[in-house]
Amino acid sequence: MPNRYVATLIFLVTIVAVPASAQTDAKWQAKARKLHERLYTVDSHEDTPNENLLNPRFDLTKDNNPDSAQVDLPKMRRGGLDAAFWVVYMGQGPRTQEGTEAARQQAQTMFLGIEKAVKAHPTELAMATTPAEALSLERAGKRAIFIGMENGFPVGRDLSQVHAYYNQGVRYLTLCHSSNNEICDSATDPKGPEYQGLSPFGEQVVAEMNHLGMMVDVSHTSDSTFYDVLRLSRVPVIASHSSCRALADMPRNLSDDMLRALARNGGVIQINFYSPYVKTEAKSSERLAAEQAFFAKWQIKTPLNVYGLPAESQQAALAEWGQLQKQFPVPLATLQDAANQIDYAVRVAGINHVGIGSDFDGGSVLTGLRNVGDLPALTEELVRRGYSRRDLAKIWSGNLFRVMKAVEKGKSRSAAGSASTL
Ligand SMILES: [Zn+2]
Repeated sequence: MPNRYVATLIFLVTIVAVPASAQTDAKWQAKARKLHERLYTVDSHEDTPNENLLNPRFDLTKDNNPDSAQVDLPKMRRGGLDAAFWVVYMGQGPRTQEGTEAARQQAQTMFLGIEKAVKAHPTELAMATTPAEALSLERAGKRAIFIGMENGFPVGRDLSQVHAYYNQGVRYLTLCHSSNNEICDSATDPKGPEYQGLSPFGEQVVAEMNHLGMMVDVSHTSDSTFYDVLRLSRVPVIASHSSCRALADMPRNLSDDMLRALARNGGVIQINFYSPYVKTEAKSSERLAAEQAFFAKWQIKTPLNVYGLPAESQQAALAEWGQLQKQFPVPLATLQDAANQIDYAVRVAGINHVGIGSDFDGGSVLTGLRNVGDLPALTEELVRRGYSRRDLAKIWSGNLFRVMKAVEKGKSRSAAGSASTL
């Protein structure tokens, strides 16, 4: 039977070819792993506080099932992750005094959750607010935890709140989340733009953040907010967890023009690993129809808008969305797709303006890159694609730390005094 000969031939080719390619693979892997260990690595966006730290049953020392926890100490060790921004996240609720007060309380609960988790593991973790602190922690064998705040909702219309959060250690503020707030228009508000960019109060918030030395984060903002921020900010800004729109057409990803503008500003895009933001999804017509029915029912435009729904309907909508995803699955983007995002951003914005903001514990999961423990595989892929050690050092922390230092240096003298109250 000819098939038998073919099978034998395939077998022979396999036993000859596999050891050679396996050898090359092992060589690449060893080189990349060694390099990854030596690099200082920062992930600028992890939703671990909201997802797990507030859960009394969560054990940070355990190698948890990645379906429920993508960040814990064993995974950080395995992933060679030296620093992370843990995020104080608030979904956008009603913009009333009560709503704002509830968001402020939620923020304080999360600050406490972070503080408790870090204090419980003093030999391994410590808080940091500057690159210099993070690097000195590394010399002491500790991983650094920075704080970012996702959504300016708890600021309300009170500028002094920005200063208060700075004093609590917040080093970037994502101006908004899935909906517009008092500060600016979001990329995904179902009602569309409200101010055509920053509100007059939002302009003051950006100035205050520059004054204090807190990074402005343009992830989640509308395009016009993005351009307003770039026009007003005296210092470089970040997109703490965004990807490139050319490869995944989502309103909260950055267009080529935005990437180039961010580069001119001296800022950095930290690539997000949430599958729909990494690669445009190939959806069946059944899936598209189900999504349209879901959006019509809840009167929203994107799945992200679920987080802007009133608390009582949010849980039901989330459950329904989860069911829809199970019923009409879409293939996950891969580690290679994430590397394509990095390649693309480097090509358009330049090597000095790209970093990593995984959004792990916030919905990100890719084939081959499922949690922070898999991060060395990304370095391996980038080494294969020809990135030098110098390039990788920029992507893994150099670019973000350059922006942090510029923002710190750019703060006003009067704010420098207040920082010493930390
Ligand atoms: Zn986000």
